Amino acid sequence: MAFKALLSSQVEGLIENKIVLLEEEQLMQGDVTVSIEYSTVNYKDALALTGRSPIIRSFPMIPGIDFAGTVIQTSHSKFNIGDKVIANGFELSQTHYGGFAQKARVNGDWLIKIPSKFSTKDAMAIGTAGYTAMLAILALEHGHVSPNSGDILVTGASGGAGSIAIALLTELGFRVIASTGRMEETTYLKKLGAVEVINRQTLSQPGAPISKPRFAGVIDSVGSHTLANAIAQTNYGGVIAAFGLAQGMDLPSSVLPFILRNVTLSGIDSVNAPIAIREKAWARLAQDLDLNKLALTTKTIGLSEVTTIAPEILNGQIRGRTVVDVN
Ligand code: NDP
Repeated sequence: MAFKALLSSQVEGLIENKIVLLEEEQLMQGDVTVSIEYSTVNYKDALALTGRSPIIRSFPMIPGIDFAGTVIQTSHSKFNIGDKVIANGFELSQTHYGGFAQKARVNGDWLIKIPSKFSTKDAMAIGTAGYTAMLAILALEHGHVSPNSGDILVTGASGGAGSIAIALLTELGFRVIASTGRMEETTYLKKLGAVEVINRQTLSQPGAPISKPRFAGVIDSVGSHTLANAIAQTNYGGVIAAFGLAQGMDLPSSVLPFILRNVTLSGIDSVNAPIAIREKAWARLAQDLDLNKLALTTKTIGLSEVTTIAPEILNGQIRGRTVVDVN
């Protein structure tokens, strides 16, 4: 049966996105077919849809780096028809059709079963951003950062990964300092659990290579001078988990915080993370995420609104998470 998909093509160097009808036979190879219920618009999706970064490697492409839905066909030993599953990362939206469609066929090794606490909509409200926030928290824990260690800085706080990081950290008993360019979101950030909200301009300008220690841990969505200043202000033995580049890809830092304060810079990759780590992160999300706080972060749109929202995400105008109801 025909299904709806957002298809991106490259026309004279520009990306053109159109909703089309495709047949199941036009899906790519894989051993599991999923009837998609929800997808989301992440920062990386916005980069792909606008062509701001070369995320899509082969055209035409159904973008969407993640989806959640129900298995409708499978020859993979781990899955049965009717299983609720989630996919994110790997080749989705790069060389393999992704989540902005009503169906997907993928390699079953890319899928994990959704923890029973979550609906498919919850799973996409969390999505790549929320699961990445959990990977960052696991990195802090790996470095023995605990609620007794001191304050945790979350940058890009009103964004998707930042919002869910705050909700998770405060549930775990951490004291969170939220850095944002949108001070008007202070009430929202405090509802998520932040005890203090600071203006991101205090971190985003060039600063000293090492300065007064202030944070036991950092969860960073933005990179560049912000990350460098966060490293410079991390306490002895602290951990900085870095996964984002919303301010920039550069890292104008020095070795001083590493050799004088024994801090750890932990890189976080969600795209090629092994399945065992993904399953651990999702199990912890099921344990630690307050669904009421998740609902605070989320708004839902239809497939036709995805392309409108993409530039707004890149301009830092979208708060929290955007779920896409593909049906
Ligand atoms: P969002 O767009 O939801 O959030 C990004 C936030 O960063 C914005 O809301 C804004 O927060 C802040 N921001 C935006 N522009 C700037 C700027 N110029 N300077 C400083 N801060 C800025 O994105 P996501 O939460 O989905 O992703 C966050 C980052 O993490 C992105 O760079 C994304 O590519 C990356 N990422 C990486 C992953 C990986 O595997 N390594 C996985 C997931 C995400 P505020 O207004 O509060 O300041």
